[in-house]
Amino acid sequence: MSTAFDSILRPVILRAAAADHIKNTATRLPVTARVVDRFVAGETQDDVLSAVAASLAGGLSVSVDHLGEATVDEADAAATVRAYLSVLESMSGLEASGSGRLEVSLKLTALGQSLPRHGRKMATENARTICAAAHSRGVLVTIDAEDHSTVSERLDIVRELRRDFDDLGTVLQAYLRRTEDDCREFAASGARIRLCKGAYAEPPSVAFDTHAQVDDSYLRCLRILMHGNGHPMVASHDPTMIEAAQALAHESGRSPESWEHQMLFGIRSDEQRRLADAGAQVRVYIPYGSQWYGYFVRRLAERPANLLFFLRALAERQGKQQHA
Ligand SMILES: Cc1cc2nc3c(=O)[nH]c(=O)nc-3n(C[C@H](O)[C@H](O)[C@H](O)COP(=O)(O)OP(=O)(O)OC[C@H]3O[C@@H](n4cnc5c(N)ncnc54)[C@H](O)[C@@H]3O)c2cc1C
Repeated sequence: MSTAFDSILRPVILRAAAADHIKNTATRLPVTARVVDRFVAGETQDDVLSAVAASLAGGLSVSVDHLGEATVDEADAAATVRAYLSVLESMSGLEASGSGRLEVSLKLTALGQSLPRHGRKMATENARTICAAAHSRGVLVTIDAEDHSTVSERLDIVRELRRDFDDLGTVLQAYLRRTEDDCREFAASGARIRLCKGAYAEPPSVAFDTHAQVDDSYLRCLRILMHGNGHPMVASHDPTMIEAAQALAHESGRSPESWEHQMLFGIRSDEQRRLADAGAQVRVYIPYGSQWYGYFVRRLAERPANLLFFLRALAERQGKQQHA
């Protein structure tokens, strides 16, 4: 059943957080930075490389995300490409390069997809530049899923790029009503597919709106991916999905290296290690960079406990200021 948090607060948090004045205030609060540290490796490339090294040493694979989204500025899109080329260069020196344990994740809107006239072309070419650099350095690429209005175009771009880079992966969101069909198509074509529940505020016309419906959809999609020809990437911290993935992998006769669990940096780290120690492939998604706000808000909106943690830290700070 959907809780009041999911049906009322979650969409309000996601929508309100997009307002510039809230964003400006929230990003300036020192307490925000403290909470952000739980979910983001840091602002610099050195920060993310340290987190990558620690994860690899702990037996995990990684996916590095340079934070940023929805730019309508060509120069910003070009800066994002440069950031990826730079981090790829530094990742290629790691021992794990070429082993499939290194990956970068991209958002097409950070590469210019929302630019008014040439958005699609620019995002495609920018993504192609990053795919080529990653390919030559033995690093995988997966394209993240954003809000539903961008899905059809993103999947078109992925189909186009997969002609040259067939190991390019993408994300499908189980909360979207269309996703079961998308899973069928991409599972048949042998793609790497990261299946997640979905993190944006979406209308009921395109998305399931109760937990139970989203979970059922996730399980149906997972079954399709596990029985398909591709490489399923099970992006969930939910114990039910984790167990179902293992049962379905067994049922479909998959070897441990033909699929993987994925979780976000800072979330259920003990479970990540437990699964890896038990012989599963586990990849941790590690975001870094100065544009952490959108990512941070989605993590707050996912879980009442995260929002409470943030509000409590805020209240403590205000209490201290009043007493100072
Ligand atoms: C590798 C990866 C990539 C992703 N990429 C995308 C993407 O491209 N597009 C997109 O829309 N979404 C993306 N997501 C987010 C995803 O859609 C969900 O919003 C998120 O993973 C929470 O769903 P869940 O499956 O973990 O299950 P939930 O039912 O939300 O959570 C299950 C349990 O996991 C833990 N948990 C979950 N979220 C949090 C949190 N924020 N903080 C602390 N504990 C938590 C809690 O213990 C919770 O009880 C990604 C998730 C992962 C793991």
